[in-house]
Amino acid sequence: MSQFKLKDYILGDTITAIATFPSKSALGVVKISGKSSLPIISRIFKPAKNKNIKKVKTHTLHYGWIVEKSRIPACPAGRKNKKSNTNNLIDEVLVSVMRTPNSYTREDVVEVSSHGGTVVLNKILEIILEQGARLALPGEFTYRALVRGRIDLLQAEGVLGIVEAKSLEALELASSQLKGYNSQKIEKLKAGIKELFVHTESLINFPDEDRENLSVIQQKKIKKIREEIDKILQASSQAKAIREGMRCVICGKTNAGKSTLFNYILQEERAIVSKICGTTRDVIEENVNIRGVNLRICDTAGILKPEDSIAKKALEKSSKVFEEADLIILVLDASRPLNDDDFFLLEKSRNKNTIIVINKIDLFQRLDLKKASNISKVKIRMSALKNIGLKDLENAIYSKIYEVGIDRENLIFLNQYQHEILKKAKENISQLEEFSKNNYTIDFINLALKECLDNLGRLSGEVFCEEVLESIFSKFCIGK
Ligand code: GDP
Repeated sequence: MSQFKLKDYILGDTITAIATFPSKSALGVVKISGKSSLPIISRIFKPAKNKNIKKVKTHTLHYGWIVEKSRIPACPAGRKNKKSNTNNLIDEVLVSVMRTPNSYTREDVVEVSSHGGTVVLNKILEIILEQGARLALPGEFTYRALVRGRIDLLQAEGVLGIVEAKSLEALELASSQLKGYNSQKIEKLKAGIKELFVHTESLINFPDEDRENLSVIQQKKIKKIREEIDKILQASSQAKAIREGMRCVICGKTNAGKSTLFNYILQEERAIVSKICGTTRDVIEENVNIRGVNLRICDTAGILKPEDSIAKKALEKSSKVFEEADLIILVLDASRPLNDDDFFLLEKSRNKNTIIVINKIDLFQRLDLKKASNISKVKIRMSALKNIGLKDLENAIYSKIYEVGIDRENLIFLNQYQHEILKKAKENISQLEEFSKNNYTIDFINLALKECLDNLGRLSGEVFCEEVLESIFSKFCIGK
């Protein structure tokens, strides 16, 4: 996580950054934003056709070369002075110009598309920096878009979601958030509360004994708003699972077939995103995509009593991963009767979202599930070794995520802070319902409405909240 400091985001500066991953690749992009963008590019870019880049129309593309400033001759290259042909040409590029206010940051923005490659991109960046731009901080371009009102905080989350999307579902969710559908939803809630707030303000300013409380219609409106917030809060855990993936743990006694199952899933699913760590004694974690849903699968070292210190560490890790898991896949061995370890794990997963895999169905069956008290969970019969049953497991995992059906309309991605803030907004509403029910004076109701409005404002960024801004912008990369 980057060090985000709001005070370092100085809006007057012209900022620059490499926007693409600097590596050996076909293309790379360096961005500049701010009032000096055009003067800077005019000093370091030599268009193929003689034109003044500072005067070109917005949203236009220009072909030419990036040259090093010190070598730019006073007169056009290649004309009177032969020496001028020795200009230090850096790269053949396309320069796009987006003028204020029709750009991402609402400022003059220039994007230089050069060839990809660490050296060339860094060289172009260096030349731009020498011309007076400052290196952009993480998420600073998006921060400017936010401050200048081009997007709100929920849309900024959408940008982050698109960059980080690990599955098509996550991309879809983030795109609709960027488009502003979710912002509209919050705006609608705010509008409803604002209307009531204005009403209570007028009651305070022009007291009228007969109308000291909210009317029945207003109370119904309030209830509806609370229900709407509830729906968003509920759906946000689905949004989180879609965006971040589900943390899924495979556990089971020794030799139940955990590693075999793990490998079976990974072999079949081609879309492996990353391998995080692992020795056989440690927790191995991999990301796979199951039907467009990102799933983080951890194989644990088993949950047995440790004999030595290394095993103890592994055990601690396993337990932590187990506690934090969104989904447990508990592997039972169909060829052996249940033993104490199975009972222990069945009990441990009793209150967790669990799928029980009955593995080794290809062997003679010795498993008697009647003895297990906690066997009402979903059961999938498989043979990880003989590659039987993965589709059934996938279906079960998928329906676990969408157990209650996807509430697409309310699928808003909220980070932990935003989730807390929305919960507070809901508490404000519940509180004012109480006030209204118990005939508190209108001042109390007014105050609760105001707090609720503030909280919803924090969510969209309208009300400044350093914590929320920090929670979002600290996750951005440089150049976005
Ligand atoms: P773990 O200790 O739970 O990770 O178990 P492993 O995946 O290492 O498997 C233990 C043994 O069971 C290995 O010899 C596997 O080949 C075998 N095994 C795993 N799954 C199956 C299965 O579905 N059928 C059969 N017959 N053997 C299996």
